[in-house]
Amino acid sequence: MLHRIEGDLHMEQVSLRKIAETHGTPSFVYSEGAITAAYQAFHDAFSMHPHRICYAVKANSNLAILQTLAALGSGFDIVSGGELARVLRAGGDPGSVVFSGVGKQDWEILFALEQHISCFNVESASELRRIARLAATTDAIAPISIRVNPDVDPNTHPYISTGLKENKFGVSVEDAMTLYQEAAGLDSLKIVGVDCHIGSQITELTPFLDALTRVLSLVDELEAQAITLEHIDLGGGIGVQYRDEVPIEIGHFASAIVQAMSGRPQSLMFEPGRMIVANAGVLLTTVNTLKSNNEKNFAVVDAAMNDLIRPALYSAWQEVTPVTLKDDGASPERHWDIVGPICETGDFLAKDRMLSLEEDDLLAILSAGAYGFVMSSNYNSRPRSAEVLVSGQEHYCVRKRETIEDLFALESMKPVS
Ligand SMILES: *Cc1c(COP(=O)(O)O)cnc(C)c1O
Repeated sequence: MLHRIEGDLHMEQVSLRKIAETHGTPSFVYSEGAITAAYQAFHDAFSMHPHRICYAVKANSNLAILQTLAALGSGFDIVSGGELARVLRAGGDPGSVVFSGVGKQDWEILFALEQHISCFNVESASELRRIARLAATTDAIAPISIRVNPDVDPNTHPYISTGLKENKFGVSVEDAMTLYQEAAGLDSLKIVGVDCHIGSQITELTPFLDALTRVLSLVDELEAQAITLEHIDLGGGIGVQYRDEVPIEIGHFASAIVQAMSGRPQSLMFEPGRMIVANAGVLLTTVNTLKSNNEKNFAVVDAAMNDLIRPALYSAWQEVTPVTLKDDGASPERHWDIVGPICETGDFLAKDRMLSLEEDDLLAILSAGAYGFVMSSNYNSRPRSAEVLVSGQEHYCVRKRETIEDLFALESMKPVS
């Protein structure tokens, strides 16, 4: 997807220098081809078992990305009414939407009922009753799944680990049994599945298989109580390569999971986010100022933690590469910290990178397609970046850069007396 032609970095058939000239920096740039390939690889790997991929919208919710995935037949995993609205606007089928999240509000539940989504992934007894009550008042029947917390350690960053007892997500396997029994007695609910999601950026197969084993024992117990399920949703969390991680090979993942299902009839569901979009995107930024003290060299760029917060939030490592390779005779390589202009010491994008840098150089921060723009903010009154989609030889602006006016468009001053 990324390759160089005479030293110039290209995404598909488009030069990233050209994109920076056309759309400015900082800009997120996504490859439609890479997104399609990642979705298709997942889909093909499970061809031997009925399945549905529900792309986790929160990883990158740009309408053009959702539109691309909807056209491939993807379902969607949403965590808010806003995400449901995006899916609908992008042409996604609400009948292939699952709704996750620990704090669904009444209006969100009502909106999802009205749109006939495929399943509510329920995370507590209180939420189960709330959904049942709202469905009853609107003469609807809510399809539900209980999110179980299988208490497995996914060996990932603590902030993105969700399947341990101490996390706020889901209910224990024992409590799930009681909840299913309660749900079975409520006319406004229809039990359709079970789900779990144990964390993000997981690079080992074992946590997924451990979670599935626990979920399957619940499925068997439920069957003994005459509660049958249509699907088993194993969530997302499949890790990608940012640096030297070795991601799980998707074919290997699929065969191990289908084998563990040992002929059970339930369809499988997955909610991948990161693995569909992370490596399909880059953040383009321009070097503004170079400064050095006795200890360090800093390259201050025009992107910052408000644009890409992963390095500051999770100490995440993302590759930084020049958009144009230099000829011999360029300034020698040195160790640089790539930082933004925000007034926080935590405002860095990368540390200690060997690069030959000059002011006005263009840099690409790789693997920025997931949890990039979606986590951006206006901190320091910085307008948010543009987003660009590349498809073959074409490139489209899929979100305009915010203007200064946009920054306070929703604000007002108090009346002057
Ligand atoms: C965040 C999330 C996902 C997606 O996780 P990835 O690591 O991006 O695959 C899927 N399901 C749920 C419930 C989530 O919260």
